[in-house]
Amino acid sequence: MATSDHEGVTVVKEMGLVSNVFDDRTLSSLPGDLAIGQTRYSTTGSSQWRNAQPIYRGVGDNEFALGHNGNLVNTAELADNAGMLPGTVTSDSDLVGELLALELAKHPHAENPLKIALEQVVPNLRGAFCFSVMDRDQIIGIRDPQGFRPLALGRLDDGGWVLTSENPAMDVVGATFVREIDPGEMVIIDENGVSSHRPFDDAAIDPKLCLFEFVYFARPDTRLYGQNVHQARVRMGEHLARHAPVAADLVMGVPESGIPAAEGYAKASGITFGHGLVKNRYIGRTFIAPNQSLRALGVRMKLNPLKENIEGKRLVVVDDSIVRGTTTKAMVAMLREAGATEVHLRISSPPYKWPCFYGMDTGTRGELLAANLTVDEIRGYTGADSLSYLPLDQLLESIGAVNAGFCDACLTGNYPVDIPVNLAKHVLEVDGTSDGDNGAATLLDIAPIGAAD
Ligand code: SF4
Repeated sequence: MATSDHEGVTVVKEMGLVSNVFDDRTLSSLPGDLAIGQTRYSTTGSSQWRNAQPIYRGVGDNEFALGHNGNLVNTAELADNAGMLPGTVTSDSDLVGELLALELAKHPHAENPLKIALEQVVPNLRGAFCFSVMDRDQIIGIRDPQGFRPLALGRLDDGGWVLTSENPAMDVVGATFVREIDPGEMVIIDENGVSSHRPFDDAAIDPKLCLFEFVYFARPDTRLYGQNVHQARVRMGEHLARHAPVAADLVMGVPESGIPAAEGYAKASGITFGHGLVKNRYIGRTFIAPNQSLRALGVRMKLNPLKENIEGKRLVVVDDSIVRGTTTKAMVAMLREAGATEVHLRISSPPYKWPCFYGMDTGTRGELLAANLTVDEIRGYTGADSLSYLPLDQLLESIGAVNAGFCDACLTGNYPVDIPVNLAKHVLEVDGTSDGDNGAATLLDIAPIGAAD
């Protein structure tokens, strides 16, 4: 987190869970009435303290802190163009901090040097970025011209303003949703209130919200493009039931994001809905664990079968996606061990075949099950009796945001922002320092499925 009392910017950041880093004592030592916070999810740049956010820079009399949600794809080119030596910066967000600092140094006495620096820097960035940037007297929010990741504006009862990735965070602090920030929009929050600015050319604006925000990423109580995410997931399940019916005794969802689609499947099919797996609420999402051995361990720690509900039953098991297949294979085996007589997998999105470069760390193409195998081969690999995916047109219909633009690159390979052929996770790190995964490989490489699963 970074805060300001208009005298100076204070930054406190650590590795680990928010609840481990911030206690009452730490929070009470953070002064001021302006604040930003960011829990970093490592895409470009390894998981190390230096890459934790907010990024901070002090330049002469100016200073700022920056939080970044998303992932840039032209980091190497930007670092090259700025003449930076290898290792000067270690993540895409650190690079943006450095570029802003360089610009800030050129305009020390301007009325708003941070605004000018952002207007100079952000049009050169490619990829996904929602930034929250603050100095002593203002908070600036920016959403990239595609709007890959969400950003919304809210208002507190006392007149204060809030920017969040997802609107449920506003409920937590008692703020009311005002509106989504437009793709390519910059908002400045200062003592005069909120002002809106457009630092990108009109031609650059091309809305492509991440489709997986609806499928998996976003909280169910989030609203995106005016649609409630939970309701969209229920509709995905209803479509799936009509698209891929099967005779079964129980429909269950894979916690948490598979459950709304399972409800929809049960509703449309008339098969009883129930719970077959209990999630350990203290373990995070497994694909986010930064290496494969931690991910595999995570599956066993994360899900436990509810034997009494599934023994002797033919199950429809609804999940949102299969990325590497680690969770799915282990889960099918667990359900069979717990007495399920049949396991029919139903996935509420199309096969995930292409890596994401815009903020979801799914590894290389070689790690993606559907990039390497046919649907029937995936069924065989997971050990399920049958497997069906929701087609793309039905997924879009389920979301209901008619004529809204979406990124679907991980499903179709149509990347809305071009990807450099040599893009890799540790592109900025001189010694290939990594958190144990294979980020040194080019992300589009195809390698056979092997030890990874
Ligand atoms: S590639 Fe997939 S996960 Fe990445 S932004 Fe696009 S839709 Fe979302």
